[in-house]
Amino acid sequence: MDDKSHRAVRRVQGRSAAPGIALGPLLRLAPAKHDARQHRSVAEEHQALVDALAASQEALGLLAGDAGDADAEAILAFQMALLEDDNLTAPAFTLIAQGEVASRAWSAAIDPEIASYEEASDSYFRARASDLRDLRDRVLRYLAGECEQIVPSGVIVAADDMPPSTFLATDWRDGGVVLRRGSPSSHVAILARSRGVPMIVGVDVDHLGDGSDVLLDGDAGTLIIDPDAEMRAIFYQRRAEQSAVRQAGTSLRGPAFTASGERVRVMINVTGLAELSRLNPAEVDGIGLMRTEFLFQGRENLPTEEEQYQIYRRMLEWAAGKPVTMRTLDAGGDKPIKGLTQAGGINPFLGVRGVRLSLRNLDVFRAQLRALARAAVAGNLKVMIPMVTVPEELDRCRALLEEAREELRREGQVAQMPPLGMMVEVPAAALAIEDFNADFFSIGSNDLIQYVAAASRDEPQLADLARPSRAVFNLIGHVVKYADSSGRETSLCGDLAGDPEQVAALLDQGLRTFSVVPGALGPVRAAIARYSGVTA
Ligand code: PEP
Ligand code: MG
Repeated sequence: MDDKSHRAVRRVQGRSAAPGIALGPLLRLAPAKHDARQHRSVAEEHQALVDALAASQEALGLLAGDAGDADAEAILAFQMALLEDDNLTAPAFTLIAQGEVASRAWSAAIDPEIASYEEASDSYFRARASDLRDLRDRVLRYLAGECEQIVPSGVIVAADDMPPSTFLATDWRDGGVVLRRGSPSSHVAILARSRGVPMIVGVDVDHLGDGSDVLLDGDAGTLIIDPDAEMRAIFYQRRAEQSAVRQAGTSLRGPAFTASGERVRVMINVTGLAELSRLNPAEVDGIGLMRTEFLFQGRENLPTEEEQYQIYRRMLEWAAGKPVTMRTLDAGGDKPIKGLTQAGGINPFLGVRGVRLSLRNLDVFRAQLRALARAAVAGNLKVMIPMVTVPEELDRCRALLEEAREELRREGQVAQMPPLGMMVEVPAAALAIEDFNADFFSIGSNDLIQYVAAASRDEPQLADLARPSRAVFNLIGHVVKYADSSGRETSLCGDLAGDPEQVAALLDQGLRTFSVVPGALGPVRAAIARYSGVTA
């Protein structure tokens, strides 16, 4: 409990969900209240729910218009689709017809749905429960006649859970988030990382006093309540250092060089067109990883060949001749896709995912390869295959891509065979890299680390094991060396590439192409500029 008389410093340990630091007053976010009114007629209750659903739909539509990134758009589209889903709303209207008040009828209809997402064995679906709670509370707020929850800027918000729509509607400058629920893979954590908002999860927020000053450390996963003068001084120093690094990085326009003048390519990882609208192609060396599975997620039907072609073509046009590496569908593992991946499979990370799934769903794979072969004429396209384990998988993909190109030509369509490369993220592939007929390699450190350490990338208790070890660096060095000696390019597109503290160690291994999330461009370029030679 807080000892307000002498404001003792308290440290609470949570789990890091988004890096960064923030200092400010704590604001405890209240859960949505239920409408207490009970005196309306059945017709009025019915109309109240109709109005609340319509108001929610409109508000989500407005948020979607301002979202500006693929993750945010996907969450809002999921919620808007649910509002239109009769399977969800019809039971609520039935209960109202039987005399229930609208708010209780709505909760009764949506709560079992939330519970089924919460109980899902798959962490992706569990994380979606928060999107549903957000939707439930939004409609309840409208039914209770409340307006949007407004979060002032510059505060550290503590809550049970953070609805994605509240997150999206908030100005997070200098702020941060502390949650009891949620995980680093929940949608709100993904949004926080992509927008640079520090966040920690797994904190007992009931014992946090509203209004106290808190220091949130999203890197260490800690919250310090009533930090003393020394802690504040360290905070200001760290913040100044971080903004200096960002400044240094962003002021480095054009090609990146090490301190000794060696050229290093820095590309970006993206999930769709939306992210590109905020980026200038002149400031990057291309797209090193386009995770195409995000085009397949959160929708009723899979995207058609034509839809995919239009998106790929526009990305190539954006890049204006710079390389664009499109990775074929990497569904499965922590990225299930409705109608394609198997729910509840044993150990999904070791199951039918990536290329294993594509080779078992040839209709879906062929449509993607045709879209890619068509788009290849519009720019500098490279096609990359995820989760390759044995050479035959890549050979089969090459044959299918060639077939797709031939088929398109026979149909009179313009198409071209792009370079075909592979992700190196399975230890079996890294160890026998000489056996693969790949035009280029890109190391997927996120999966490589978890498979080398036999420690799941989404198991917080094993974070100490699932980290870049000497074994991982040895494998990276082995791949880079082979690629260099055989005249092939290697990049690294896992999160490791975006960690400025690991840049020197990666350069030591001979890596000269990094592909990072746009937010890491500045710090990574600055770390490259500081590098003057082998450090280990
Ligand atoms: C990786 O495994 O490092 C990678 C880039 O792929 P993903 O994170 O999409 O599995
Ligand atoms: Mg991977």
